[in-house]
Amino acid sequence: MATALVIVGASYAGVQLAAAAREQGFDAPIVLLGDEAHAPYQRPPLSKGLLSGKTAVDQLALRGPDFYTEQNIDLRLGARATALDLAAQRVQLADGSHLDYGWLALATGARCRPLPVPGATLQGVHQLRTLDDALAVQQALGRSTRACVVGGGFIGLEVAAALTAAGAQVTVIEGQTRLLARSFPESMSDYVAAAHRQRGVTLELGRGVEALLGTAGHVESVLLDDGRQLGCDLVVLGIGVLPNVALAEAAGIACAGGILVDACGRTSEPNVLAAGDCANMALPQGRLRLESIQAANDGARAAASVLVGQPQPLTAVPWFWSEQHDLKLQMAGLPAHGDQTVLRGDMASDRFTLFYLRDGAVAAAHSVNRPAEHMLARKLIALRAQVPSEVLADPAADLKPFSIPQPRG
Ligand code: ADP
Repeated sequence: MATALVIVGASYAGVQLAAAAREQGFDAPIVLLGDEAHAPYQRPPLSKGLLSGKTAVDQLALRGPDFYTEQNIDLRLGARATALDLAAQRVQLADGSHLDYGWLALATGARCRPLPVPGATLQGVHQLRTLDDALAVQQALGRSTRACVVGGGFIGLEVAAALTAAGAQVTVIEGQTRLLARSFPESMSDYVAAAHRQRGVTLELGRGVEALLGTAGHVESVLLDDGRQLGCDLVVLGIGVLPNVALAEAAGIACAGGILVDACGRTSEPNVLAAGDCANMALPQGRLRLESIQAANDGARAAASVLVGQPQPLTAVPWFWSEQHDLKLQMAGLPAHGDQTVLRGDMASDRFTLFYLRDGAVAAAHSVNRPAEHMLARKLIALRAQVPSEVLADPAADLKPFSIPQPRG
């Protein structure tokens, strides 16, 4: 007999889709397939607390041990889907078995982009995506004094901070001339670079990696494109991710920089949904593949609404956070070229919010160590509140009145 809903992928999007389906009244059988051996776990601590020793593995469970049985969700671990037959509504599994489905949801996530240089497979060279990856880095860290991190995005910088906290000397090598260029304007990139340097991290910006060199199979240095060799005993690659679309693509589901879905998570195929890092969503801002827990959760909730016949498109303001050293970075909304930026607070004090105004309305905000102000900023963004720039710029000016929806007149 066909399973009413088969979900491929048991991380944030997959688990949330199963949970949201139950919350929204979907009471037919659900099978949740995860290819890892571990029960679904929280990912943010992998590049933060787990490496610095603040978080233990047994604190990582995404849901309590009884959640899946209580919710009647058939969680199968170590179960990898290898092919989809859309006509037969069937998922093929690596162990030779198959599952027939009524609805199929793809929450296959993303994988680390490989570094295409000689030496990338030497021992001591790691990536950081899964719990097993993080445990391997944690183990290597015990033996490491000098580490190189390739990639100055969020993952690379979080790892750099965690390795520094664990006592290693860390160099970050970033191909672009500034950090976090995909997410931040120059002023924020410069702030983050200064913050890392002040906290002991060496930055090599605008530098390519030619090769990773080693002896006896173990990495010993990174060869930069200016000919310098940086000695190290540990390398962590954080050069971005690629969406896992192979299953969908092979089955003929439309993909372009991710599995193409509408704002409710519907793919090009009837009865097939997708959510999370693998999904390229049609949002009011345009097509986007957002790599965040919030997008996975909200995308999964939208997809679940399709299952119960009450489609609720995703409308939430995108948000994301990062922890690096003693800095809590929070980001909401999506800045665009041409936005006016207004700084509230002082970057030198590591407590500020940078607001982005578009057509006079608050469109995005990046905060450092300003959690309460950031929550307010999210409300302002959702309301597209018109706040005069001199009010935003004055830390003493009250923003709360602007966060209250005005009655329609
Ligand atoms: P993540 O969120 O996983 O950190 P991002 O795509 O935001 O991923 O960041 C990856 C960073 O790695 C980017 O800043 C990018 O410029 C950088 N990068 C990509 N390829 C290389 C490379 N070969 N050498 C150094 N940096 C790289």
